[in-house]
Amino acid sequence: AGGKVTVDQIDGLSRSAYPLCMRQLHTALKENHHLKHGGRLQYGLFLKGIGLSLEEALIFWRAEFTKLMDVDKFDKQYAYNIRHNYGKEGKRADYTPYSCMKIIMSNPQDLEIIMELIDVLFKLIFTGCPFRHTDADLLRQRLAAYRVPKKGADEIMEFVKESHYQLACTRYYELTHGVTASSAINHPNQYFDESRQSLQ
Ligand code: SF4
Repeated sequence: AGGKVTVDQIDGLSRSAYPLCMRQLHTALKENHHLKHGGRLQYGLFLKGIGLSLEEALIFWRAEFTKLMDVDKFDKQYAYNIRHNYGKEGKRADYTPYSCMKIIMSNPQDLEIIMELIDVLFKLIFTGCPFRHTDADLLRQRLAAYRVPKKGADEIMEFVKESHYQLACTRYYELTHGVTASSAINHPNQYFDESRQSLQ
């Protein structure tokens, strides 16, 4: 796990140190002031992994969600799940952030089938691994928006075509950091930690 991270650092970190899967979830949350259950789980556990405390996590999610709903509704319907991620509710298990394999093998459509199918039509899927679950044209657009040069984007798309999603992610890391990765990416939190170390 990373060091201590506070709410006010998150936006900056999402641009500098997040893997694409988490950056996509963060952007979707900021734009829609909401994320569905699967996304809250994937992103929430990642945030825990980078060192966001439960108190800070509640502030973070509440600030976004209450742009669309009142605090009371947030506290009743959503705060429980956030405490749950931190092992403070239910079985009190210490949930660990998802690995790439788990994210890549997940099927975002399984979660909330009807809603998700509508989202697929409108290309609104944010959960999962973008190298595995995002439509190729949209992925290309996103890489361009995040300033990955065309030649680099071609290399990434080549890995994607061969179903080497984690290698695609590793190449994305290298291109956006201007360094060679010390090992292939196999966990979003490993990506984050590598990114932080590369800046030190
Ligand atoms: Fe995220 Fe892993 Fe996919 Fe990279 S390979 S985008 S870290 S799930």
